[in-house]
Amino acid sequence: MFHLLDGRALSETIRAEVKQEAATFILQTGVIPRIVFILVGNTPASEVYVANKGKSSEESGFSHETVRLSEQVTEKELLQLIEQLNNDSKTHAILCQLPLPKHISEEKVIEAIAPHKDIDGFHPINVGRLSIGRGDFFVPCTPLGIMEMIKREKIETSGMHVVVVGRSNIVGKPLAALLAQKADGANAIVTLAHTAAGNKLGEYTRSADILIAAMGAPLAITRDMVKPGAVVIDVGMNRIPDASKKSGSRLVGDVDFESVKEIASAITPVPGGVGPMTIAMVLRNTLTAAARQTR
Ligand code: NAP
Repeated sequence: MFHLLDGRALSETIRAEVKQEAATFILQTGVIPRIVFILVGNTPASEVYVANKGKSSEESGFSHETVRLSEQVTEKELLQLIEQLNNDSKTHAILCQLPLPKHISEEKVIEAIAPHKDIDGFHPINVGRLSIGRGDFFVPCTPLGIMEMIKREKIETSGMHVVVVGRSNIVGKPLAALLAQKADGANAIVTLAHTAAGNKLGEYTRSADILIAAMGAPLAITRDMVKPGAVVIDVGMNRIPDASKKSGSRLVGDVDFESVKEIASAITPVPGGVGPMTIAMVLRNTLTAAARQTR
């Protein structure tokens, strides 16, 4: 019988903790943690993500604002806005929702956000410190949420073989770096797999004690690719056609949950697994940013 890694329930616990800590912080310092979301254009998915993060910020007692910019905004205008926010001592966290329109360099935008306000953890200073494992830095919210889930679910990682499938800068790479740190809750033997594994992917995934799929490939991890008793964490969020749904589609992960749950010891659902943990970590990082900027 598998154990369901219930990200929704865990995230509610963490949100309640953050709300409590924020209330104490505000009482002690008189400072209200403030996050500003920057939303460029009208991508429906980005609208939903930012609306959810805004609502959660509100519930945590934070001050928040969403600056909406048109699709046509110039790179220069966006960079100027970021500079203003960097210099605004009342704003502790800046989150520029990606992707950006093609005419704006994501790299320039990421590097423009002051590292101590970059709660997404995408700035090279944060990436570098994460890799070294020293100093003040922010960890991207999805990998941080997964590490928090692993810790709270008391999943042993030390000496375990973790296979991460997907090497994006926002999920796979930082996750592999975190799991490989010589630290409590990490210390794993990590394999980072990607498309170059080709039809050998199963050989890698089958050797995983903990398998983490961050591929964006719907239902790609099937039962035959998983070692019996493995812990399976599914980061994927993919919409696939489903005529039985009113919307005509449904959300699935990168893992074929129905078949894999039969042999996994623990597994995250999609939705309700990694997704809610990500939002909880946006809140956690925002409070951390406010605390660091107030000390
Ligand atoms: P990404 O930038 O598209 O990267 C996907 C990675 O997976 C790439 O490294 C790619 O390899 C690898 N990959 C894709 N198909 C593969 C295959 N068949 N075999 C082996 N490797 C394969 O994706 P991402 O931004 O990391 O996102 C991954 C998934 O997580 C998406 O579904 C996304 O929606 C979801 N996501 C969820 C959350 C959340 O909060 N739940 C947050 C972020 C992302 P190459 O490098 O060789 O191309």
